Amino acid sequence: MPDLLNTGYNAKFNMPMIENLPSKLFRREILDMSAYHVADAKNFIKLDAMENPYSWPEHIQSLWLQSLQSSRLNRYPDPEAKNLSNALRLHNGIPDHAAILLGNGSDEIIQILLMALLPQACVLALEPSFVMYKQVAVSLGLNYRGIPLLADNFQLDMPNILAAIKQYQPSLIFLAFPNNPTGNLFNIDSIKEILNVSTGLVVLDEAYAPFANASFMHELDNYHNLLVMRTLSKLGLAGLRLGFMAGHPAILEQLNKIRLPYNINCLTQATATFALEHGEFLLEQTQIICQQRDLVFSALQSHDKILAYPSAANFILYKTLGIPAQLVFNSLKEQGVLIKNLSHQGGLLENCLRVTIGSPEENQAFLTALFHALK
Ligand code: PMP
Repeated sequence: MPDLLNTGYNAKFNMPMIENLPSKLFRREILDMSAYHVADAKNFIKLDAMENPYSWPEHIQSLWLQSLQSSRLNRYPDPEAKNLSNALRLHNGIPDHAAILLGNGSDEIIQILLMALLPQACVLALEPSFVMYKQVAVSLGLNYRGIPLLADNFQLDMPNILAAIKQYQPSLIFLAFPNNPTGNLFNIDSIKEILNVSTGLVVLDEAYAPFANASFMHELDNYHNLLVMRTLSKLGLAGLRLGFMAGHPAILEQLNKIRLPYNINCLTQATATFALEHGEFLLEQTQIICQQRDLVFSALQSHDKILAYPSAANFILYKTLGIPAQLVFNSLKEQGVLIKNLSHQGGLLENCLRVTIGSPEENQAFLTALFHALK
């Protein structure tokens, strides 16, 4: 009997063995990537992913279920998501002249943006920032450039950024405002300078806008290369997967061509529209989260083995002093609290951990576990 398994070929179909196929078919950048890792959070107090900890009040839940009864699952959803788009415009102060593009999470919008660029176009982002900018850019073979933030306050290193813009003429610049994972808002005048000197597009990623009291949405009429991206995930609808971007119609018209026609399913369209129309409770939850953020920040600041960074988002980045962050992370996990360990990214994030603001009870459990871990 010939040993077919050792020949490297599937003799029957005259095909390479399946294990060898990826390296023959897929781009080097993809083979070299690691998948986006999501920790298993079962049975943990889950403070790792910037989710809103609250569920919906009961009367809102029953109104919502009633509203879903008119959804027709046998039909494709409205490809333009008109009702939802109108509600998003109204509740986010999107200027009338701006166009809007919807995505299956803002992750998908990042992908759409990058897919549309010329091959080998330069994409510029800050580091550390949201990892998807780099992940998607690299997977598409684009020329990704990461510019480090300033070490002491995570602000924009303007001389370096301006030099990079001049040298690489990036087609796209990502600025998360507030930034993930550092939590801070970048200097507004510096962002305007970037918008002024850039010959390409500048995406202001306002994923954490509900917690920030700052936005570039009202600047859309002033800067035609500005795109403002937001998501409903952090507001309390992470399970729905809905992101959107507002910007000049001439830009969004092109991006819309590569958006898959039914990317926003009918249940997401109906639920998000409902949530925006009954959104008072989400705003109340947001306010509680901001109050809790300030309390957690003060508690972290009071500990001499912690350096906590001020945050305008629903999470706080902090550095452990005199004790490796990995040990603290492990101890928290053993005590049933899951946060995000960023220390393995190194650089400015050495010994850094990020905690999402949860309910008062969850935050208390986190602080108790943390102070125990630091003993
Ligand atoms: N932008 C930033 C800055 C983020 O932190 C995240 C999620 N962590 C996203 C975009 C993606 O959000 P979503 O895909 O849930 O809309």
